[in-house]
Amino acid sequence: MFEDRISTARSIMRTRGVDALLIGPSADLRYLTGYEALPLERLTMLAVTGSGEQRLLVPELEAQRARDSGAGDHVDLVAWAETDDPFSVIAGWLAGAGQSLSLAVQDRLWTAFTLELQARMPQATWVPASTVMRELRMIKTPAEIALLRAAAHAIDAVHAQVPGLLRAGRTERDVARDIAELILEDHDRVNFVIVASGPNGASPHHESGERIIRRGDAVVVDIGGTRQGYCSDVTRNYTIGPAADDYLEMHRQLERAHRAALDAIRPGVAAGAVDEAARAVLRRAALDGRFIHRLGHGIGIEEHEEPWIVAGSTQPLREGMAFSVEPGVYVPSWAGARIEDIVVVTSDGVDILNEQPRKLLECDA
Ligand code: ZN
Ligand code: ZN
Ligand code: ZN
Repeated sequence: MFEDRISTARSIMRTRGVDALLIGPSADLRYLTGYEALPLERLTMLAVTGSGEQRLLVPELEAQRARDSGAGDHVDLVAWAETDDPFSVIAGWLAGAGQSLSLAVQDRLWTAFTLELQARMPQATWVPASTVMRELRMIKTPAEIALLRAAAHAIDAVHAQVPGLLRAGRTERDVARDIAELILEDHDRVNFVIVASGPNGASPHHESGERIIRRGDAVVVDIGGTRQGYCSDVTRNYTIGPAADDYLEMHRQLERAHRAALDAIRPGVAAGAVDEAARAVLRRAALDGRFIHRLGHGIGIEEHEEPWIVAGSTQPLREGMAFSVEPGVYVPSWAGARIEDIVVVTSDGVDILNEQPRKLLECDA
């Protein structure tokens, strides 16, 4: 698997005119080698050259962890000692490739490392590694889709238990703590728990706080974790006691917008057109001004990765792309609602990984 990924990366490098890929601790490194490196002030770096070498430079004190990860089966592990200069090691590896190198450096490598590398190789030109990695990571293999589906089902099972936790008199934080515990029953990690009650629902990334949930509140619950390396992310809306008529109507429009987006998904369609399908429904209900974010984001070994399903994007959808469909409506100082599922593009349409019903759920007050 890792060998295939590295060799595909190399063929994309060729088409993009990239001489070497330089990857620090990141999801990209995990994707290419299976090694989850710590983000340390000491340099850890995978160098994949077009000529066929792949070497992972690690600080000596991390060498055992790197070996234990199995990364050594696919790449050459090289340890640098505390008094070595790791930047000259990297520059040395690339010296044979000529003066005017095109180097693809990992998008989120610390600036201090990038500046030091640039100082050592002043003739090189630099591009973000996503130039190569985007294309590779955006398309999921059947094995990856199976893992995303298992993560989706695990988080669905948590949502199924949320009505039992949401009650008037509890704080958002109490509920969030219980949800986090449930997520861990079938995930390795909790990535986020958003419990946004009443007016807090109008802030899409609200941090669950001390607000006491009241009868009549609408509550947006957006939760996700990592299970066997792959992420889950799903949002549903609840009310404490019966919903107000205007909220119910807003939620109905949102369900329609969500459905319209799902119906628009198939290979060849631009990502922006899928966003527009949902936005058009909300526009007819005069709610488009309240839909203040893009429709969705790719998901895989990271919660947010490409493709971005955003207005105006001409990125064509391709079979195997996995992303969220999450239209939302936010009315400051009143309430918000968001419906989110993870989907995969199939050869002729869409495969919806989440199975939890999308309707507004009434909890006992
Ligand atoms: Zn988000
Ligand atoms: Zn999301
Ligand atoms: Zn979410």
